[in-house]
Amino acid sequence: MTITVSSDFCGGNIICKKADKASNIRLNIRKDEASDFYQWFYFRLTGTKGQACRMVIENAGDAAYPKGWDGYQAVISYDLHDWQRVASTKYDGKALTIELTPEHDSVYVAYFAPYTLQRHAELIAGAQMNSAARVSVLGQTLDGRDLDLITIGEPGEGKKQFWFTARQHPGETMAEWWMEGFLNRLLDPADPVAKWLLERVVFHVVPNMNPDGSTRGHLRTNAAGVNLNREWAEPSMKKSPEVFLTLQRMDETGIDFALDVHGDEALPYNFIAGCEGVPNFTDGLRTLITRFKDEYVAANADFQTKYGYPENKPGNANLSICGNAISHRFDCASMTLEMPFKDNADRPDAAHGWSPARSKRLGADVLDALVGVFELI
Ligand code: ZN
Repeated sequence: MTITVSSDFCGGNIICKKADKASNIRLNIRKDEASDFYQWFYFRLTGTKGQACRMVIENAGDAAYPKGWDGYQAVISYDLHDWQRVASTKYDGKALTIELTPEHDSVYVAYFAPYTLQRHAELIAGAQMNSAARVSVLGQTLDGRDLDLITIGEPGEGKKQFWFTARQHPGETMAEWWMEGFLNRLLDPADPVAKWLLERVVFHVVPNMNPDGSTRGHLRTNAAGVNLNREWAEPSMKKSPEVFLTLQRMDETGIDFALDVHGDEALPYNFIAGCEGVPNFTDGLRTLITRFKDEYVAANADFQTKYGYPENKPGNANLSICGNAISHRFDCASMTLEMPFKDNADRPDAAHGWSPARSKRLGADVLDALVGVFELI
């Protein structure tokens, strides 16, 4: 049977150099458009059922985050629902080798469980069926896609404005899995924590900040090759309409609390990066951020505070990064959540590693952390 490797579908990314033998499939990851970033891969392999396959991603060593391959295991799926880790994934400092004997005719292989634009469309469509939610389009992306905003909660005097954004970096699909868990709980009419919050807060949620990059199979950039999380100081409709349009709406609503959701290639932990380096940072903000993190630990044992990025020195924050820019502009608590591509090393799951189910759970459980910190916001 002929062996085929294909990636011409939503989020697909691979270049097949050679696939005449199952034991020697040679691959490259394609760079993001007009950019040098690459690391996300997603492809379909067929014609190899029962054969020992050896897939070599030859250009892994020059990817955006080579440390991301240390201790990393690729994921595969036969049914596009369950994504399992491949234990025999090896990195030798140059190439990433995935060894696998497929149990079925067709197998999908990816960097992390994909979150397609079809699933995104279903997430938005499902949300609007809930009477607490409104759906609007902030504008169009460079490829002409809708940038979707979900607003949850009735406007009212004294209500706080909370903003949640995810997937500025499109390869960080765990960020949109997180959003799905978060939105499902927030829209659950039987959940008393969600109801308590909706009495006090209007939530503004952009579950996918970068639908163009998501569709194109990019790791980090939009259709113009621009890293959206470096555009928050001076976004433009020409280069970064996703940020320009979101910030425009943020200016209309104001912000009391913001969380921007990401994935980290290298660190096998869930953690928060705060905004300690912004010029207007205060002791009050530090207390709030510390409390939020402690409440998140209490709400979900996959979250932790020991490992993370080093804190920015006072006044040294990069104000083109979303988390810092929002805190600076709106004088509010604004944080970045990072989830692993690999696993949570404190509570490893050999079969799935860090997964859609765990990302969704972490998204749902942020509601408890918000209640815990609410008096400080
Ligand atoms: Zn990111």
